[in-house]
Amino acid sequence: MKARMSFGPDYECKYEWDCFCQAGKSGLVLAGKDTYTTAFFEAFPSKPNCFIRGEGGTVEEAEEQCWQKYQKIRTCNHEMERRGRTDGYGYCKHCSYSAMVFEPLTKCCKCGKLTAYSKDTRGRFYCKTCRRVMPKAVTPRFYLDYKNRIPRRRKKMVKQGASMKLYGGDRYRKVKMKI
Ligand SMILES: [Zn+2]
Ligand SMILES: [Zn+2]
Repeated sequence: MKARMSFGPDYECKYEWDCFCQAGKSGLVLAGKDTYTTAFFEAFPSKPNCFIRGEGGTVEEAEEQCWQKYQKIRTCNHEMERRGRTDGYGYCKHCSYSAMVFEPLTKCCKCGKLTAYSKDTRGRFYCKTCRRVMPKAVTPRFYLDYKNRIPRRRKKMVKQGASMKLYGGDRYRKVKMKI
């Protein structure tokens, strides 16, 4: 069993993994203000379907940690908790297993179905079906232009001019003169 390395040839695993694995000698970890590099080993088992990561001074150490986590996950009597997440994703209290195990706590603002599928800029949720009617995000340009917007009276004239233009002829010219 081999794990794919970020750089260089594959790594020969110590354990018999039955899933895709990848590893690296110097992975960058961003943990708040602290940034550090570490050797890592990541496994993507299908039973249960999850992601496990081990870290250590060397890839061997990282694999060891990852394997121990995997053994624990396989024998653990999971007790899942949300840890502040509302989308249905849960973490086990006893091991490093985490997965989508709950119903979301948020509801679709159109049909009321429990969903965390999509969220608009005002924080309202939409299910997969209702997502079609979700308003498009307001572009920041709108706010930038807001202060320099055309005075209302003048805007009305421009609008009038534009609609008059459709009719053509003298009336358009007259409106244009007024501006
Ligand atoms: Zn567990
Ligand atoms: Zn819906």
